Amino acid sequence: MASTEPAHEPEEETAVETARRQLERAAAHLDVDEGVIERLRHPTSVYQITIPLERDDGTREMYTGYRAHHDNVRGPYKGGIRYHPDVTQKECVGLSMWMTWKCAVMDIPFGGGKGGVVVDPKDLSQTEKERLTRRMAEELRPVIGPMTDIPAPDMGTDPQTMAWFMDAYSMQEGETQPGVVTGKPPVIGGSYGREEAPGRSVGIITREILEYYDRDVAETTVAVQGFGSVGANAARYLDDLGADVVAVSDVDGAIYDPDGLDTNDVEGHDERPGMVSGYDAPETLTNEELLTLDVDVLIPAAIGNVLTAENARDVQADIVVEGANGPTTSTADQIFEERGIPVVPDIVANAGGVTVSYFEWLQDINRRKWTLERVNEELETEMLRAWDAIRVEYESRDVTWRDAAYIVALSRIAEAHDVRGLWP
Ligand code: GLU
Repeated sequence: MASTEPAHEPEEETAVETARRQLERAAAHLDVDEGVIERLRHPTSVYQITIPLERDDGTREMYTGYRAHHDNVRGPYKGGIRYHPDVTQKECVGLSMWMTWKCAVMDIPFGGGKGGVVVDPKDLSQTEKERLTRRMAEELRPVIGPMTDIPAPDMGTDPQTMAWFMDAYSMQEGETQPGVVTGKPPVIGGSYGREEAPGRSVGIITREILEYYDRDVAETTVAVQGFGSVGANAARYLDDLGADVVAVSDVDGAIYDPDGLDTNDVEGHDERPGMVSGYDAPETLTNEELLTLDVDVLIPAAIGNVLTAENARDVQADIVVEGANGPTTSTADQIFEERGIPVVPDIVANAGGVTVSYFEWLQDINRRKWTLERVNEELETEMLRAWDAIRVEYESRDVTWRDAAYIVALSRIAEAHDVRGLWP
């Protein structure tokens, strides 16, 4: 259905504003102490650091970084570190709030944290990235640690980044501390299956929501925006189940094949940048066109705020599953609700990442590696457990899938605050 009069976004919505609105919506359904809600509207602390970097040509540049700690009532702060030119303090706070809900909805014993450096990693050489990461680890050392705050990869960072971070931290501590970060390469304490996990959980949850609406995955068409770690693994998982993944994209554009792409043949954006839009497909589209394709399932798995007041009425998918963190603005969410389009929220759909991070942390503490089969089996169990809890709320209250997930998360966090009490 094309829009005649598209509503406009009231103003550019920051991640923290979206996160607060979502919190308030869930709170309206629960009998939670107003003081706890007010507390959860704010981060516990936000650290700002300056990272001096010597470039390869000998010049010096200063980079700004942040680490936001939102809430740790259920366990150490947990969340990624991103390298991106648009990183802001507010974005880190909003993303750290989402991590609190994500860990709670999965019932894993972590709180929410998030960090970032305002930098375009494409502008840095590999050795510059290494120096930046090591210096950042040193600047953040007072506020992170295996029992206090455990970073992980996010946009623009990867297992190698985590390896440098772990090494810098360990050298300063005088002992190897693999549990200080997750998402490391398996050879130094990383978990098998961690890199694929966020995309895999998007696939598992898509399979579950299709079953909920009595749809056969083998008869389903899917469009995936973003073919990086999350998008590519989700697309391949669903392709393997028999779905037709008709469109995928990278920053430069989308490729489209109405009969379904061979997702294993398309190289991911992380594997070889530029190879998605450069792939020999029957048709090419813009990213905006991909979002409004007439498909059964739309998976935005690239960046935040892509489904907005401007395009939500033009979305033709029957179901949206959020692969990225925060791809839907509050206004777009309302439009989808009015239009009866179910949106499965990021905090459950891509939670496989932090769930396998938790498995990794357990393996690091126990100094004992799990097999890939065990990781994937336990991930499946945890995803289904979370999905069941959300389904119970969805069915027993007249709410959206997002509200149902937030209700599950918020009741666990509120209960933990309640029993721990406030230190005078
Ligand atoms: N950055 C990922 C996320 O947004 C993973 C966080 C983690 O594993 O700690 O969920």
